Amino acid sequence: MYELEINRAGVSSPTLHCTPLMGTTVEKMLLEMKKAKEFGADLVEIRLDCLTNFNPFLDLETLFKQCPLPTIVTYRPVWEGGQYDGDESKRQNSLRLAMEMGADYVDIELEVAHDFNNSICGTKPENFRVIVSSHNFHNTPSAEAIGNLVARIQATGADIVKIVTTALDITDCASIFQITSRSQVPIIGIAMGERGLISGLLSPKFGGYLTYAALEADGVSDPGQPTAKDLLDLYNFRLIRPDTKVYGIIGKPVGHSKSPLMFNAAFKSGVINAVYVHFLVDDVEKFFDVYSSPDFAGCSCTIPHKEAAIKCMDDIDSIAKKIGAINNIVRKQDGGLTAFNTDYIGAISAIEDELRDLNGATPDGSSPLEGKLFVVLGAGGAGKSLAYGAAQKGARVVVANRTFERAKELADKVGGQAMSLYEVDNFHPEEEMILANATSVGMKPGYDDTPISKESLKHYCLVFDAIYTPKETRLLREAQETGAVVVYGTEMLIRQAFEQYKNFTGLQAPEELFRKLMEKHA
Ligand code: NAP
Repeated sequence: MYELEINRAGVSSPTLHCTPLMGTTVEKMLLEMKKAKEFGADLVEIRLDCLTNFNPFLDLETLFKQCPLPTIVTYRPVWEGGQYDGDESKRQNSLRLAMEMGADYVDIELEVAHDFNNSICGTKPENFRVIVSSHNFHNTPSAEAIGNLVARIQATGADIVKIVTTALDITDCASIFQITSRSQVPIIGIAMGERGLISGLLSPKFGGYLTYAALEADGVSDPGQPTAKDLLDLYNFRLIRPDTKVYGIIGKPVGHSKSPLMFNAAFKSGVINAVYVHFLVDDVEKFFDVYSSPDFAGCSCTIPHKEAAIKCMDDIDSIAKKIGAINNIVRKQDGGLTAFNTDYIGAISAIEDELRDLNGATPDGSSPLEGKLFVVLGAGGAGKSLAYGAAQKGARVVVANRTFERAKELADKVGGQAMSLYEVDNFHPEEEMILANATSVGMKPGYDDTPISKESLKHYCLVFDAIYTPKETRLLREAQETGAVVVYGTEMLIRQAFEQYKNFTGLQAPEELFRKLMEKHA
């Protein structure tokens, strides 16, 4: 009946991928279990408490007969976060029946586990396992307190220990990792919630017996639970091992970031033993303090931490220091952290290449930006990267920003001219200029917004927009209509990722692969 041999007495076996079945009818669960198999699950968790009219004998017989995968049977009571609010002895009878009818595992709550385990003593089929679970819906206790809980669970005669907590901060996952990596018995450790995502993703690294992944995004029983597709295809779950290096992107929000897509595909194609995850971080200092081992080898950094993370670094690349923002952090051999800003390299190199295509290479090999008038709209993180990058290449920089004081401050730092955003429409010197939008005007959902009038675009030979959602902004559309060459924000995004990959691995990025992925997932 099964393709997978269940023989996981030791903690060194590969971590299993389990899909919970939450259908309200047996028919729905039968469909779900087929899908779970197609999606690559190793086993399914049959949540009996989700069935509206559960008939123990008939339903279990149908479910087991047709299930293409090994099964965990769970009948979660309301008092432990489930949906069953009936008689306790009937509930436990159903679980015993499930064991007798062929369940591979039963999941029973710590509070009643002692009695349950006593009741099945001497009747347990060979290879049948009892998972004894404890759920904390409020927080994640210290590793020491979780350790005590594990001992209590073991004392009930559990075959497998299951600890589920709630992550209030991403550093809560570290307590789970500490416990699972040191456990001498098979253990499942999950911190629920968005901030707990990595507890499940990284369970193969930290010795977890299994992790949960939902069939569909709208079917997750916990907001921190990945979908099966993401677990296997996005995060390369099957390739994660105890010695896998962990990278990721720190930000808040961060779930929308496409960086894991690019880096994980690149690691896989280059056979690099590393994984790249989403790190939802509230407090950067705490994050770097807790995840300070060489296992956490580096990260990308996005809003709102590009500036705040600077204080946690041991070294900062000189341009990143001037810009005052970092987006790429690498752990050095000595354990310290070095930071870079690859945003400016990504944007400026894309603009330079386009100018070379337009005008040919400069005779002396200098930057095609040298001596050019370069207008930057915006004085935030992206504005700073563009202004410093252009100034470093010898361009004469103008910074225009909604808040004039910020434009002035940045212009002074790069030796440029400042103006308010509203003055740009009347700025028409007698020479062709380059325009770089680094404001968020025109970004999704503001598709109809643009930071500068179409009329004034005729004074620019090249227009760049840092915005990449949407790829084609109103600004770029109108720039093309007025005859300017355009450079997309996606190009900055892809190129800054090339640089990050180089810093992480010391290798060239698979450029074609990055481009194809960005095109496919635009
Ligand atoms: P940021 O630090 O928050 O700066 C936002 C900038 O936009 C500020 O200059 C702000 O002006 C201006 N702004 C915001 N709303 C405005 C409005 N309604 N009217 C006029 N100006 C407005 O953000 P950031 O990190 O620089 O990002 C800016 C844009 O660049 C975003 O769309 C982001 O997605 C994009 N970006 C792209 C890449 C890439 O790889 N392609 C990388 C980084 C950023 P005030 O100073 O007056 O508030």
